Amino acid sequence: MIAPGRAIGVLGGGQLGRMFSHAAQDLGYRVHVFEPSCPCPAGQVADRATCASYDDLAALEAFARTVDVVTYEFENIPTEPLIALESVAPLMPSRSVLHVCQNRAREKAWLRQNGFPHARYAEALEGDIETAAAEVGIPCVVKTADFGYDGKGQMKIATQQDLAQASAIFRGRRCVVEQWVEFEREISVICARTEPGETRAFPASENLHTNHILDVSIVPARIPAAVAESARELAVRIAGALGVVGLVAVEMFLTASGEVIVNEIAPRPHNSGHWSMDGCETSQFEQHVRAICGLPLGPTGVRSPTVMVNILGDAWFRADGARVEPNWGAVLAEPRAKLHLYGKPEPRVGRKMGHFTVQGAGVADALELALAIKARL
Ligand code: AMP
Repeated sequence: MIAPGRAIGVLGGGQLGRMFSHAAQDLGYRVHVFEPSCPCPAGQVADRATCASYDDLAALEAFARTVDVVTYEFENIPTEPLIALESVAPLMPSRSVLHVCQNRAREKAWLRQNGFPHARYAEALEGDIETAAAEVGIPCVVKTADFGYDGKGQMKIATQQDLAQASAIFRGRRCVVEQWVEFEREISVICARTEPGETRAFPASENLHTNHILDVSIVPARIPAAVAESARELAVRIAGALGVVGLVAVEMFLTASGEVIVNEIAPRPHNSGHWSMDGCETSQFEQHVRAICGLPLGPTGVRSPTVMVNILGDAWFRADGARVEPNWGAVLAEPRAKLHLYGKPEPRVGRKMGHFTVQGAGVADALELALAIKARL
């Protein structure tokens, strides 16, 4: 066990690292953040911050020497330099888990090899989208294997014209071409796993996206209880098969026929788990601290139906482009709402600046109030 009072290192200084730092500090840990672009949201609140590149071996080693365990808050970190870091302090989840989950081609291959349900796909080496699309069928979606998030590096192909365009755009890049899934709902389950193999899954969250970015999460998800349970079981099995120590977030599609298909896996706290900060017995960030430090995992019962709404930089701009201050009173005046801002000084369209949660007697009631607040913000 890494006892409270010891130090945790976090690779990445974004909002996930910031909320993780708060949770770790609440349990008495010290946090050291490593981030290439400073200042950063996590660096503002951590006990210590190192500003250096992810391939600066000396800086990584020096950072690792100051902590008892290292974790990360996003996947796009080169894994090769982490070998040096791992020789100084344990990395959780491990480098091999990160290696699988940071690349869509490796992740899909892993799902296939381990018998987990996923959308039909083909790998497009050197950007040969035509051959891959012929194998998968149209409509489909092209996704770059590396460095994709929030729909970046993605393109839907519905026509031959789209196909020609995609071939030009993605030429030379390693991609996956994936069957377009006509899903009924998008859901996700976050599961924690400790080193000895204890697992605990959070309830399934229903996720609504706008422009490929998470907009709203609803918990409990508006799906049959048996489907929600099978989604949780799926996440638990994935956590076990990966051998994750920490959290794994599993994004899934629910099809009209009731089938649950895995879309993406992230071995870290996840935007769709932010509801847990106010709506769950244990927050995802606290659970991640518990899992990597070898503490007992916390209960994951829903305190009351909860809706989470992301606040993007768009809220700072009027339709004519003029900058305004969002109407914080719309959230702060509401006793059932809770505001979380990430300390980012510069709002930009599409940039995640914060989120708020709303709790209600039921999901419909919480959702109605959340959407009303969002409209007034
Ligand atoms: P991703 O970056 O893979 O999570 O994709 C971002 C969003 O694009 C997802 O949340 C879905 O709304 C949509 N999307 C991704 N892949 C597919 C697919 N194969 N079929 C339908 N929609 C998809």
